[in-house]
Amino acid sequence: MTSHTPRKRFGQNFLQDQGVINDIISCIGPMPADAMVEIGPGLAALTQPLLDKLQVLHAVEIDRDIVSHLGKRFAADKLVIHSADALSYDFGALADQIAPEGQIRLVGNLPYNISTPLLFHLASFAPRILDCHFMLQNEVVLRMVAEPGCADYGRLSVMLQYHFHMEKLLDVPPEAFHPPPKVDSAIVRMIPRPFPVQARDLPALEALVARAFGQRRKTLRNNLKGVVSDALFESLAIDSTARPENLSTHDYVKLANALSA
Ligand code: SAH
Repeated sequence: MTSHTPRKRFGQNFLQDQGVINDIISCIGPMPADAMVEIGPGLAALTQPLLDKLQVLHAVEIDRDIVSHLGKRFAADKLVIHSADALSYDFGALADQIAPEGQIRLVGNLPYNISTPLLFHLASFAPRILDCHFMLQNEVVLRMVAEPGCADYGRLSVMLQYHFHMEKLLDVPPEAFHPPPKVDSAIVRMIPRPFPVQARDLPALEALVARAFGQRRKTLRNNLKGVVSDALFESLAIDSTARPENLSTHDYVKLANALSA
């Protein structure tokens, strides 16, 4: 299918650099019996080398032309294709099916235009996931792994760090893709972990964090006016004159839990 015209609306930037592809496969370290799921296989730049190592690979792909191409190219018992939108796909049900006693491994060179909502969607399946290896826009990866106090630290850092331990593995330049994206890319590894303090109410934590980062230059006290009282800040030993980027994920969980107590 050399004739496939990359579709911008599906964030199609196909990997073409064999060295980069090999590096990604060694970061993933596929083992034959892994319950692996690729998001957005595209023209199989990663799919093919993964299939060389795996007994079976599952793939979730939205583009029907690509689905039909892959269906012709690979045996149906080797590559199991789920023709679906990853944003609404039930990865929990798939895990129940292919790893009833275990967890799935997720991989993919993700469509950058939907990376944030997709990461939030995947976070809801964290307990059923062993690990994730994703190619993303470098700027997004920097936000994911940012520590408190950094300019990149924000809502994405807090909410994803609550669910995952994350590590940036490698930088990937635009030339590694066809067509080249306008941004730099990077590979990130995400490993789900139970956070030391459990959030009582996850949507409430999300809402609090979104509100706290409403205006980054303002103090917490200002951003959370009418939501968190001075007395509550004091009782939790959180400095209300701090900026939102100075609070750890742990602090946000404490604050949200106190509010929903
Ligand atoms: N893995 C391939 C393709 C990456 S491009 C490679 O590295 O070359 C991104 C891929 O994700 C494309 O195949 C695109 O069709 C697919 N995609 C885009 N949006 C999607 C969605 N919402 N759900 C599932 N797949 C999607």
